[in-house]
Amino acid sequence: MGFLDRGVEIKTPDQIDGMRKAGLVVGQTLELLRGSVRAGITTGELDAIAEDNIRSSGATPSFKGYHGFPGSICASVNDEVVHGIPGDRVIAEGDVVSIDCGAIVDGWHGDAAITVGVGPVREELTRLMRVTEEAMWRGIAAARLGGRVTDISHAVERHVRSQGRYGILEDYTGHGIGSQMHQPPNVPNYGRPGKGPRLVEGLALAVEPMITLGTKDTSTLEDDWTVVTDDGSWAAHFEHTFTITARGTWVLTALDGGEAALTALGVPFGGR
Ligand code: MG
Ligand code: MG
Repeated sequence: MGFLDRGVEIKTPDQIDGMRKAGLVVGQTLELLRGSVRAGITTGELDAIAEDNIRSSGATPSFKGYHGFPGSICASVNDEVVHGIPGDRVIAEGDVVSIDCGAIVDGWHGDAAITVGVGPVREELTRLMRVTEEAMWRGIAAARLGGRVTDISHAVERHVRSQGRYGILEDYTGHGIGSQMHQPPNVPNYGRPGKGPRLVEGLALAVEPMITLGTKDTSTLEDDWTVVTDDGSWAAHFEHTFTITARGTWVLTALDGGEAALTALGVPFGGR
């Protein structure tokens, strides 16, 4: 493992394979949670399902104890955008639940998030979730060897703006990932292309647009974690961890490695 300028960690192919193991645990855990979200379940029960699945897969939940965070997932409901603490909150029909999950295998991290609608949700929320997930994929698809980190940022923002009036959080960003969950560089969800560290083989990044039906302004609740919108508008959050190999792009937290979505966007699949 080497370090380029600005502290960017470069992984060997074997180390990327290790990240794939962690990514698969994250992806499988999120699919399990997607199937578990229903009216009447608490966010704490979702957290227990996640922790059981992560540990029984031979992995460690990376969120648990991270700067004192008590859960194995973040569960953020409706106007909560990210970093919600799982607990007694009961999920109701019509809610949207953003679930963020991280796992460690042999010291290597995976990090991903989904937003799930509970039963029928308002049409504007269905659209918000679709736009946010699409923006994440557009960002990943914009990453090419030899490009720059903000090529991703620009593609995320351009897609969101093309779909309507949404708030794009600026105070929270995607990030480098590898032997730690959060590493340089930051991966903002807005901005001009062609800036930031160069995209090279062995770099791994988490891309995670956080999008609201209102403005980008947020505050942190008194629990010191939960990030809520200032205008009360509801939000969505999608995230994947990916890398670029000589052959193409590999989404380490997607069960299919991202092959279907990347192919649909004309991007070569670089998975092993
Ligand atoms: Mg995350
Ligand atoms: Mg992340």
